[in-house]
Amino acid sequence: MYEQDTIAAIATPPGEGSVAIVRISGVDAEKIATRVFTRSQGRSGKLKSHTLYHGTIHDPDSNGILDQVLVTIMRQPRSYTGEDVVEVHCHGGAFVSRQILGLILAQGARQAEAGEFTKRAFLNGKLDLAQAEAVLDLIRARTVKGVELALNQASGALSKHVGELREELIDILVQVEAAIDFPDEDIELLQRPLLAEKIDRLTEKIKAISETYEWGRLFREGAKVCICGRPNVGKSSLLNALLGEARVIVTSIPGTTRDVIEESINLDGLPVVIWDTAGIRESRDQVERLGVEMSHEYILRADVAMFVLDGSEGPTPEDFELLRLVDGKKRLIVINKIDLGRGFSLEELKAQDAEAEAVLVSAKTGAGIESLKSDLRKLLLNYQAEPEVAVTNVRHRSELMRSAEALTQAAAAIESGLPPELVAVSLNEAREALEEIIGIVANDNILERIFMNFCIGK
Ligand code: GDP
Repeated sequence: MYEQDTIAAIATPPGEGSVAIVRISGVDAEKIATRVFTRSQGRSGKLKSHTLYHGTIHDPDSNGILDQVLVTIMRQPRSYTGEDVVEVHCHGGAFVSRQILGLILAQGARQAEAGEFTKRAFLNGKLDLAQAEAVLDLIRARTVKGVELALNQASGALSKHVGELREELIDILVQVEAAIDFPDEDIELLQRPLLAEKIDRLTEKIKAISETYEWGRLFREGAKVCICGRPNVGKSSLLNALLGEARVIVTSIPGTTRDVIEESINLDGLPVVIWDTAGIRESRDQVERLGVEMSHEYILRADVAMFVLDGSEGPTPEDFELLRLVDGKKRLIVINKIDLGRGFSLEELKAQDAEAEAVLVSAKTGAGIESLKSDLRKLLLNYQAEPEVAVTNVRHRSELMRSAEALTQAAAAIESGLPPELVAVSLNEAREALEEIIGIVANDNILERIFMNFCIGK
């Protein structure tokens, strides 16, 4: 599993930039680097660790100079991978960095695979698995909250929490194993209800943390909201009101928004993408029909469907028909145009759809828009307050769910009086699932899948 050879890669993204970094890690990193690096002003001697040196990179065969660079050596174990690491900071042209990498490879290093530096960091105990995965999240983060969540995980907050749950589980396991080892003791029977209760409490804790996934996902990837409703109810106007500017063309001819318009807003730190769809209704117009089909697709993909009604007209049979399209979807009903007076009451709506809750707004005057925003945010986040530790990785969530399921089986086994050996089997499975999150047990397959998602050079 652990390769001892020396690896190298360009750590910076391809393309032109002011600086590119070529990274080398492994036992021969320093030897290879000193063969191709000459310090400026004829200085020599052993390079100090964690110090930046100015000089040139040259080809030892032709003696041609490739670039002026800064070189730093980070001797093990105080490096990212836990091995000797050398970084060559060269000029940021794709050609120069590739030439330097080529030279380093010619001196005996091997091209690193995707994520191999981080994999070595994990295998050398510099990071646990959840922390290593957080590095990838950090690289990919697109929102401020995404960065915060990734940094939190990289610093070990999730690992610590999962580690504590694992300790609790091991305490239970020890008691069950004692019952296996000393079958004649009466303690076992007395403890059954108590043990089942402990397991239930632990199951709840594990479920609670796995449920933070949705919360974390929304902050990390952004939430998706689809504005839908009949033509001319004010969908585009509402989008403009939410954006606080007139970006979407608003006309009084029904069906003007033929394509799906995508805009982004920030709801108190929560990034939200809003899709304004074409009016959903049967259409003979070819172009409009296309738009309508697209709306259906966007409704399916959205986290919340924001369903707009024209408050100056009252709900029409068509509205109710369309409402059924978003059945089973998390939805927010918005009654627009309240500035026109009249309007229909919530009761009228409830008479048709008992569960309907609605926000009253005027896209024109801006009335109700702030409370619409706050209701939308609450609905998206399921009225959840910010959890202390959030799960953002789908692999972690599925391991937590596996653990909770195995614990439920263990509790059932205890309650139905099954032998402690069987209880222990389920408890061990629950423990393994937790351990796979932090990588206490990690099979090669999992590692390969995780690290292949990284870029080369990380
Ligand atoms: P869409 O087809 O659902 O996107 O509807 P639009 O946003 O294009 O609006 C249709 C018409 O309703 C336009 O003439 C808007 O000016 C008007 N409208 C939209 N919202 C309001 C509102 O809150 N009050 C009033 N009085 N008119 C509105």
